[in-house]
Amino acid sequence: MSAVFARDAALRVRDPRTGADVRALAPPTPEELDAELARLRAAQPAWEALGPAGRAEALRAWAQELGAIQGEMVEALIADTGRRTESVMELQVLQSGIARWAAAIGGRADDDAGADTTTSLPWIAVRSGARPYPLVAVISPWNFPLLLGTIDLVPALAAGCAVVLKPSEVTPRFLAPLRRSLAAVPELAAVVGLVEGAAEVGAALVDRVDAVCFTGSVPTGRAVAEQAARAFVPVHLELGGKDPAIVLQGADLGRAASAILWGATANAGQSCLSIERVYVHRKVFDEFTGLLSDRAAKVGLAWPDLDAGQLGPIIDPAQAGVIRAHLEDAYAQGATALTGGEVEELGGGLWCRPTVLTAVHHGMRVMTEETFGPVLPLMPFRDADDAVRLANDTDYGLSAAVFGPDEHTAMAVARRLEAGAVSIDDAGLTAFVHEGEKQSFGRSGLGASRMGPASIRRFLRRQAFLVNRGPVDDPWWWDAGD
Ligand code: NAD
Repeated sequence: MSAVFARDAALRVRDPRTGADVRALAPPTPEELDAELARLRAAQPAWEALGPAGRAEALRAWAQELGAIQGEMVEALIADTGRRTESVMELQVLQSGIARWAAAIGGRADDDAGADTTTSLPWIAVRSGARPYPLVAVISPWNFPLLLGTIDLVPALAAGCAVVLKPSEVTPRFLAPLRRSLAAVPELAAVVGLVEGAAEVGAALVDRVDAVCFTGSVPTGRAVAEQAARAFVPVHLELGGKDPAIVLQGADLGRAASAILWGATANAGQSCLSIERVYVHRKVFDEFTGLLSDRAAKVGLAWPDLDAGQLGPIIDPAQAGVIRAHLEDAYAQGATALTGGEVEELGGGLWCRPTVLTAVHHGMRVMTEETFGPVLPLMPFRDADDAVRLANDTDYGLSAAVFGPDEHTAMAVARRLEAGAVSIDDAGLTAFVHEGEKQSFGRSGLGASRMGPASIRRFLRRQAFLVNRGPVDDPWWWDAGD
């Protein structure tokens, strides 16, 4: 390895609202990274030994500190992403997540070593235990820097691991207030490492830790999984999506239009669980299209002022290029934009208004590849079988939404979808509701659920203690008697 992470250190951090270069990225040197990981490994046994109640108390103390630096954190997230509402939401979801995970471990022992499990040999009992992976790396993307930087970090800490977080090189500014909030809780500061860097630092981490949580794109996820396999460490992948929404005949169309618009345009569509394809029963297609377009036309850009409208900028210029390419491909094949329709350059930033598209088909990139922008392509379907076939015609399987005339009808369709989480009569509910275990289907990911009880369990390695309370039969004596 070179003496520095040279390519990462050459990167500039950009202001997404103006396009201006703000500062250079500041990755550690390989020696500094090694020293940081050694510090975390040295501190982890004491963190594990604190036990669930002690760890829950430290996590709750951290949530208090996050409250105290709320203003500073939101400003840093705005600097990273150019939007306000979602920045406030990121902090709130983290705080409620800490409370939930702390409650989940608060009253529990690390293992159930106190209880025996009987076995087929009655004089032998099994007692079980669980030990955390000592050091976990969290590698996260730019679209929700704080939320996705901590969604695996907190349950890993709850399990007793030390954690090193490397967020996206596009959005590293939130690390400074995060570091300050952790410094106020010494037990946590000892076991959390925060490092800047891009691909080189991310790859260096995969070779140096005991487990990896990666959130990002499919191509990078594949590279991380291949490297983790060579390093022989488990990896949890949360990758891209092309989430469908299905609007059945008899659904409340106004409700569906509002929910789908939010699901497709929150964070300017830069969300893994964005609605990126909408299938509508042909008998209500025109009415729904009108309702959705009317609502979409009223959503404005948060420009020139931060609070001028609802949608922030496209955070990463490379993503703006993908959105442009998908729209150009769709127009070249006959699609029509009823609202929005392009990536605009305003004040040096890149912006996209909600773009409702009709006359689309599955030969277009906008229907098969992740767009990651506020684009809503609408397609009519004939019946439920047709809707399920279209929704499942994808490499992805992150989440989906179904709107029906009643819960039973919507559920019957939802159960046939190849997606890890399906919102019923709403869209994008996994953004706020983290209690339900879900896995990513298809190319949307690999590994255990990051939600529900498995979110903590996946960081624990199970142990079995086999206790013989009877005599030992020595088989060698049997042979000796012959
Ligand atoms: P990305 O894959 O480009 O980068 C993600 C992270 O990986 C960054 O921190 C990056 O520095 C790091 N990285 C890059 N190369 C690496 C390597 N070789 N080894 C180790 N780390 C490396 O993704 P992005 O553009 O930052 O984020 C957008 C993508 O993330 C979209 O595809 C989106 O759908 C996905 N995403 C998924 C979820 C989910 O929960 N499933 C949530 C949000 C975003």
